[in-house]
Amino acid sequence: MEFRRQAAPYRDAKARLADFKEIYTEHDEGRLATQGARCMDCGVPFCQSNDGCPIHNLIPEWNDLVYRGHWREALERLHKTNNFPEFTGRVCPAPCEGACVLGITDPAVTIKNIEMAIIDRGFAEGWVVPQPPPRRTGKRVAVVGSGPAGLAAAQQLNRAGHRVTVFERADRIGGLLMYGIPNMKLDKEVVVQRRLRLMAKEGVVFRSNATVADGVNGSLDVAALLEGHDALLLATGATTPRDLPIPGRGLDGVHFAMEFLTCNTKSLLDSNHADGAFISAKDKHVVVIGGGDTGADCIGTSLRHGCRSLVNFELFPKPPDERAAHNPWPTWPVIYRVDYAHEESAAKFGADPREYLISSKEFVDDGNGCVKAMRTVDVAFENGKFEDVPGSERRWPADLVLLAMGFLGPEQEVSEPLGLAYDKRSNYQADYGLYQTSVEKVFAAGDCRRGQSLVVWAINEGREAAREIDRYLMDGTELP
Ligand SMILES: Cc1cc2nc3c(=O)[nH]c(=O)nc-3n(C[C@H](O)[C@H](O)[C@H](O)COP(=O)(O)OP(=O)(O)OC[C@H]3O[C@@H](n4cnc5c(N)ncnc54)[C@H](O)[C@@H]3O)c2cc1C
Ligand code: SF4
Repeated sequence: MEFRRQAAPYRDAKARLADFKEIYTEHDEGRLATQGARCMDCGVPFCQSNDGCPIHNLIPEWNDLVYRGHWREALERLHKTNNFPEFTGRVCPAPCEGACVLGITDPAVTIKNIEMAIIDRGFAEGWVVPQPPPRRTGKRVAVVGSGPAGLAAAQQLNRAGHRVTVFERADRIGGLLMYGIPNMKLDKEVVVQRRLRLMAKEGVVFRSNATVADGVNGSLDVAALLEGHDALLLATGATTPRDLPIPGRGLDGVHFAMEFLTCNTKSLLDSNHADGAFISAKDKHVVVIGGGDTGADCIGTSLRHGCRSLVNFELFPKPPDERAAHNPWPTWPVIYRVDYAHEESAAKFGADPREYLISSKEFVDDGNGCVKAMRTVDVAFENGKFEDVPGSERRWPADLVLLAMGFLGPEQEVSEPLGLAYDKRSNYQADYGLYQTSVEKVFAAGDCRRGQSLVVWAINEGREAAREIDRYLMDGTELP
C-alpha cells in the first residue's frame, strides 16, 4: 500500500539504437527490494497458478527473500522451477504479472524484473555452478533441436543421470534463443553461451551442424539415431512461416522475418557485421507485415541498420488500453502494449510504427524485379470477419518487406522418415503432460508439439517431457 510499481527502465531509446547491446539497465537492488515488498504473499498466489507462470515459479517466496536481502536463497527457490531464469527474466511477456492479485486494483508487482535480477546476481556472485549428476544410469537420450525446450529437457535428463546428446542443424546451439530473438533482447555471447558452457560442464553433449532427417544429403539418419539411443526427444520448433501469396511475392526485397533476423545475428556474431552477410535495411523504406515479438524484432533490427522509414501493418484492430469485459483478471490481458522496438521507432521517427486494420494486396514491381511499394486497403472487422473498405486503397514506399505473420507448425524432415502422426494443426501429435508421440521411444516437446508459443512454455514442456522420458526409461522418476 505504501509503494507504487516502478518497473526497471530500459536504456535511452535513441542511445540504444546505436548498437546491438542489451536494452536493459543495471539492476537497482534497493528499488527491487521495495518492489518485492509490494507482493502481498497471497494465500492463493495466482501469479504462479495456471493463468500465471507456466513453470509455476515460486514467486511470492522469492519476492519476499529479495525484500529481505536473501538473494542466494531466492536464487535457490528460482532454480527449483526454472532452468533458465536469465532467458525468461529478459524475454518472457510475464503472464505472471497479468495474474498478480495486486493487479485487480493496482499495477502488478514487477515480477519479471525481480526474476532477472536474482539470476544475474547469482551469476555475478559465482553461485551458479555446474551440477553434474552423482551417478550415471547407462541410458542414452538424443534430443533433436536446441531451443529452450530441448535445452531444458537435456539439462533435466542429464541431472537424472542419463547420457544426453543434443543435435542441432544450425551452426550455433540455442534455437530461437540464438537465431530468433535478437541480441539486444538476449545477449548471445554473455547470456546464452554462458548457460551452454555450464550445461557442457554438467555432461550434456552438443552437436551443431547436425541435421537429423533421412540420412540423405549429409543429414543424420533418424532411424539410426533411434536405434542407438534409449529414447529420442523431438524439440524442433514450429519453424514453417506463414506466407503472403499476393501478386509480386517473388520480387527481390520481400523476405520472411526469420531470413532477416537469422542472418543479422549470425553476421553480428561472426564478424560484427563486417562480412556484410546479412539483409541490410540501411536507407531503405521498410514495411513489416505482422506484429507480435517477431514483428517487433524486425522493427528493432531495421532501426539499428539505419532504415529510412518504417511502417508495421497489423490486420487486427488496435487493442484497448484497458482489459475488455470478456478478458477479466487473471487471464492474460489483451491490451495495447508498447514494446521496446515501438518505443525506439517513436524516438527516431516521432510516431508508433503500427497501422491497424490494413490488408496487403500487392508487392509493387520497380520494373527490375525488385519491390518498390506496397498496395493496401483498409479493412473493417465485424462479427469475426474482415471486409475491405471501398475506396481505401493506399500505396506505401517499400524497398524491404518483412513477413512476420506467424508460423504454421514444425517442418517435416525428421517426422516424415519416422512416420509420425500429426495433430489437426500439423504439429507432432503427443498429449500435453505425456509427450509420447505415435512412435515408440519418440517424444515431442515445445513449439513442434504445441505450435509457436513462448520461451517459458518451451521450458515447461522440456522439463515435463524429461520427467516422462525418465519415467519411461526407469519405471519411475524423481524429476518434477
Ligand atoms: C523472432 C522471434 C522472437 C521471439 N521472441 C520471443 C520473446 O521475446 N519471448 C518469448 O517468450 N518467446 C519469443 N518467441 C517464441 C520463442 O522463441 C519460441 O516459442 C521458443 O523458442 C520455442 O522453443 P523450442 O525449443 O520449442 O523451439 P526453437 O527455439 O524453435 O528451437 C528448435 C530448434 O530445432 C532445430 N531443428 C529443427 N529441425 C531440426 C532437425 N531436423 N535437425 C536438427 N535440428 C533441428 C532448429 O534449427 C531450432 O534451432 C519468439 C519467436 C520468434 C520467431
Ligand atoms: S517465467 Fe515468465 S511468467 Fe514465470 S515468473 Fe518469470 S516472467 Fe513471470
